Amino acid sequence: MVDAAAQAVIEEERPAAPMRTETFRQTRPDIVGPDAPELPFPIVLSGTVQHGFGRGGKDLGCPTANLPDDSITPMSSVTKTGVYYGYAQISPERDGQIMLPEKDRGVMPMVMSLGWNPFYKNERMTAEIHLMHDFDADFYGHEMNALVLGYIRPELDYTSRESLVEDIETDKQVALKSLSRPAYEKFKSDLIFDTTQSKL
Ligand code: ADP
Ligand code: MG
Repeated sequence: MVDAAAQAVIEEERPAAPMRTETFRQTRPDIVGPDAPELPFPIVLSGTVQHGFGRGGKDLGCPTANLPDDSITPMSSVTKTGVYYGYAQISPERDGQIMLPEKDRGVMPMVMSLGWNPFYKNERMTAEIHLMHDFDADFYGHEMNALVLGYIRPELDYTSRESLVEDIETDKQVALKSLSRPAYEKFKSDLIFDTTQSKL
């Protein structure tokens, strides 16, 4: 725990996210990052999918699989909060049993939000991953492996639900387009993934 004075310093160092503006919306590029991933990418993240606050995700049409705190240390080389893109795969197994249907076992394109965790008074980061795939059921308790390949945009503050949903939709399109470049697409068969699980 930190005392109130230290907490005030922390909060000062981490100002609230800037407001999302109309100019930002109109000038968003549809493809981001260099033609091939550049250091510190690719960054590998692995962990068991945790329950989050149950807040937002599914209501916004964008469920996010939350990673445990100790699994996001590899992101500390970046620390830039905001939205990232890459690939992720869910392990089919839970408690020694195969739980995922074959169609849900592939390596999926993803968008990841990296932010400060209000639950821990913003002293810790959270990483939440939305996989661009329609899963048959929830997969809490399953292992997730992810490869973060690039950065899309900073974390922003929203005055309306519509503009947030709109930006999330744009993030997904930008991620798909950015990942379709050959130097990114090849990471789909990276050794961290189990490509014997599915032909996807
Ligand atoms: P929570 O706050 O518990 O993370 P969410 O509303 O963000 O709740 O939902 C996340 C859960 O939804 C994941 O842990 C996972 O089990 C499930 N889920 C279903 N489809 C997806 C998907 N395409 N991407 C991420 N999670 C998904
Ligand atoms: Mg979530």
